[in-house]
Amino acid sequence: MSPKEATRIDITEATFKDPLEVIKNLSANFNISYTKVIQTYVMEDRIIDLVLEKEGSAYFKGKIVWIGNRKDDTEGTIFCVQTDSDLKKINPTAENTEKVILDKKKAIVRISTEAKAKCSVCGKNIEIFDDVAGCPLCEAKAHKDHLFDWIKMKNSCPVCKKRLSLSSTGQIIID
Ligand SMILES: [Zn+2]
Ligand SMILES: [Zn+2]
Repeated sequence: MSPKEATRIDITEATFKDPLEVIKNLSANFNISYTKVIQTYVMEDRIIDLVLEKEGSAYFKGKIVWIGNRKDDTEGTIFCVQTDSDLKKINPTAENTEKVILDKKKAIVRISTEAKAKCSVCGKNIEIFDDVAGCPLCEAKAHKDHLFDWIKMKNSCPVCKKRLSLSSTGQIIID
């Protein structure tokens, strides 16, 4: 392994799988302390930065505050990141992320983003900051609020047209 490879670790698969896999990678490479609160790993020191890049240039940077799993129980990791002005949730998925690299030398998680999926309701790109929801039958993806509004109005999926509704706990259910 060349020195360059040793300082850049590909954690794309870990990120798509589970926050625990991400924490394992971070713990193996940095002296971090965290507290596990239910399914969320809260950083005690915000020593790791997260940078979003598009075609090699950075367009977003912040400090990782916590790492958690998706509320809808699908696989994957959410990063909550503190910027100068606010907290942002980053949702890397196979549809918006090319690669997640751990830059060991600079203590940065670098996410190369690319919006590959379009919302099946509004037709716009699904970006990494967007909350995403999907049809449980055909797996069409959409901005979460757009899909929920659509289901409330039409009681169906915008793509496969099968009957859907929302449970009182905010899950999409098959009628
Ligand atoms: Zn949309
Ligand atoms: Zn559908």
